[in-house]
Amino acid sequence: MARLPKAKQAKYEQILRDLHRRIGSKLENMEETVLRGDEDSGRDESEEFGAEGYARDLQLGLIENEDEILQSIEAALERIEEGRFGTCEGCDALIPERRLQVIPYARFCVSCQAKVEEGVLDEE
Ligand SMILES: [Zn+2]
Repeated sequence: MARLPKAKQAKYEQILRDLHRRIGSKLENMEETVLRGDEDSGRDESEEFGAEGYARDLQLGLIENEDEILQSIEAALERIEEGRFGTCEGCDALIPERRLQVIPYARFCVSCQAKVEEGVLDEE
């Protein structure tokens, strides 16, 4: 099975930890904004469908996305610990570094990712 050299995995560990910290604090801010919005609104249900309700849904959607990224980062950190970071989980080939530079928490190479999205390859 192809493995990314330990030194490289360590480099990505730094990148991932840094990203995790940044997204974590961004997420905290976003959550605070949503909670604050809830407090000052004091409106009735019918206005939930108005512009503010929409903005809030949008914000919640963003929070969900960021939360997913955080989980992906945590999973990538675990793979570093196990020494298999940078290896595609679909075909056991090395994930090209130019892909890892863009998405350091990628689990699959480009072609396996496409298969996952098509539903041909099981994500688990
Ligand atoms: Zn692959």
